[in-house]
Amino acid sequence: MLMTPGPTEIPESVRKTMAKEIMNPDIDEDFFEFYHGLEKKVKEVYRTDKDILILGGEGILGLEAAVASSIEKGDEVLCISNGIYGDGFADFIKMYGGEPVMVKSSYDEPLKVEEVESKVDVEDFKAATMVHCETPTGVLNELGEILGVLKDHGVLSIVDAVSSLGGTVVPVDKIDICIGGSQKCFSSPPGLTTISVSEYAWEVMEDKEQNSYYTNLPIWKDMWFGDEYFPYTHLVSNLYALDESMNIILDEGLEKVFDRHERMAELCRERVNEMGLEIYPSDESLSSPTVTAIKMDGKALKIQKKMKEEHDILVATSLGDFEDKILRIGHMGHNAYEEKVVRTMDALGDVLERM
Ligand SMILES: *Cc1c(COP(=O)(O)O)cnc(C)c1O
Repeated sequence: MLMTPGPTEIPESVRKTMAKEIMNPDIDEDFFEFYHGLEKKVKEVYRTDKDILILGGEGILGLEAAVASSIEKGDEVLCISNGIYGDGFADFIKMYGGEPVMVKSSYDEPLKVEEVESKVDVEDFKAATMVHCETPTGVLNELGEILGVLKDHGVLSIVDAVSSLGGTVVPVDKIDICIGGSQKCFSSPPGLTTISVSEYAWEVMEDKEQNSYYTNLPIWKDMWFGDEYFPYTHLVSNLYALDESMNIILDEGLEKVFDRHERMAELCRERVNEMGLEIYPSDESLSSPTVTAIKMDGKALKIQKKMKEEHDILVATSLGDFEDKILRIGHMGHNAYEEKVVRTMDALGDVLERM
């Protein structure tokens, strides 16, 4: 059983739909119709009317494409961060010639709204990057206020919502470029990234001279939204899978899906507390409904190994400095069901008791 915070387990109907005969995505009108239907479903899950792009490539492609399409040499960009992915945005900004200015919090603290405000008041920034759910540390960031400040100052907002979209409310309508991925709460196979693009984001990107192809988002505006053909042969089987994943979410209803995530997060955390373990971050109100990070100083890797060997359940550790310090349970998408969370926590209890 795959209980990692991405990739998540994939429902059987999603796996089966990948085995369907393919259509030709370059020339078949029926495929275009299917794809329009899929765009509509992704918009419903994003809860937005903004344009939706679906690119063939994993979530990281979405992050890189957002930066590559909007940032050029000399652009100053605010990188608002309290985690590993938030810090990582600054690397992308540098790769594309931009100058990142960090607004950093510790990884167990909220983002700093006032510091963002004081920075944008005195200096012009082209864009700002931030992460909604910091998956490696289980923190969900409140973004509403910061997004308001950025909008008032004409700063393009780029948000990584890869591990929250489809699991909890994301303020997509306040975000210029909002990036999702197929393998987290959507419970589809890795391979696609979804991106919502605002009118303002299109303007910024169209003003920039584009110097790439696969990460060039405005190309989609000309080709797909203009003349209705894709820049490259699209990933048909992955798109079938994403379509079925969207059907499953929309059939259940977004409110119910979000509620299920809340309840499973609560259940998971109750069990953590009952075992005398501690959640990261200490302020549990910062925890994401999609993933729980548990403090396991120097034991995370060993516990992960035992859970796999003895219980056939794969959970995650973390990244970077946290690799052996945090154990993570991904209760997102198709993993956010009581029987799975209970089975996982029972196994964790058993492994810990015998250690
Ligand atoms: C999973 C994830 C991504 C996609 O990146 P991978 O590390 O390749 O899976 C991007 N951002 C966040 C916050 C994620 O959780």
